[in-house]
Amino acid sequence: MPIRIILVGPPGVGKGTQAALLEERLGAKQLSSGVIFRSEIEAETDLGQLAKSYIDRGELVPNGITIQMMVKRLRTDDVRQRGFVLDGFPRTVRQAEALSEELDKEGIPLDAVVSLEVDDEIVVERLSGRIGCTKCGEIYHAITKPPKREGICDKCNSPLFVREDDKPETIRERLRVFHENTRPVIDYYAGKGKLSRIDANQAPEAVYASIATALGEA
Ligand SMILES: [Zn+2]
Repeated sequence: MPIRIILVGPPGVGKGTQAALLEERLGAKQLSSGVIFRSEIEAETDLGQLAKSYIDRGELVPNGITIQMMVKRLRTDDVRQRGFVLDGFPRTVRQAEALSEELDKEGIPLDAVVSLEVDDEIVVERLSGRIGCTKCGEIYHAITKPPKREGICDKCNSPLFVREDDKPETIRERLRVFHENTRPVIDYYAGKGKLSRIDANQAPEAVYASIATALGEA
C-alpha cells in the first residue's frame, strides 16, 4: 500500500532526513517544492518557465503556480503507485486547502500529517554552528563536524564562512516566518483529525520510529 504523508516542521528540524528515510524504507516518493521547481525548470515546461521568471526577479513563486506544479507531480504514475512524503509543502493554509481539494478530486487519501516539533532555541543552536567552504561548498559544524584547522576547509584549504542563512538573526527570522505561516497549517490538519505531533529533539532513528508508529495508528 502506498503511504501518503506530509511532514511539517521548522527549518533545521530534520524533515529532509526523515523524508529520505521514509522513501528508502517505505518507498514513498520524497517531494519537496524546491526539487519539483528545479525539475520543471530543467525540463523547460510552461510552468517551469513561468516559475523561473519569478525566481529570476528574486520574487516568490505565486501560490497558484506552486500548487499546479505539485498537483502535476502527484498525478504521475510513480507517485500514484508509491505514495509520497511532502517535505516543505504546504506552507500556508491556502496551499493546504488547495492540496486537500485536489487529493479529494483525485480520490487520493492522506495517511498522516506529522508535525516535527522542537524548541526554537535548539534550532538556532543546531543551525548557527554551520560553516561553509567558499570554494567547494562543503558544510562543517562548529560542534558536530569541525574542520581539522579552524576556519579552513579540509578538502580544498579554502577559507570557511558563516552563510547568511545560518546567522542566528537570520535563523530567528526564518523561525518567526515559519510560526506565522505554518501554525495555521498545523491547526488546519489538527481540525481534520490528521495531525500527529512528534518530539523531534531525538536521534533521527528515534524520530523515524515515532513517525512509523503514527502511521500505524493513522
Ligand atoms: Zn572546500
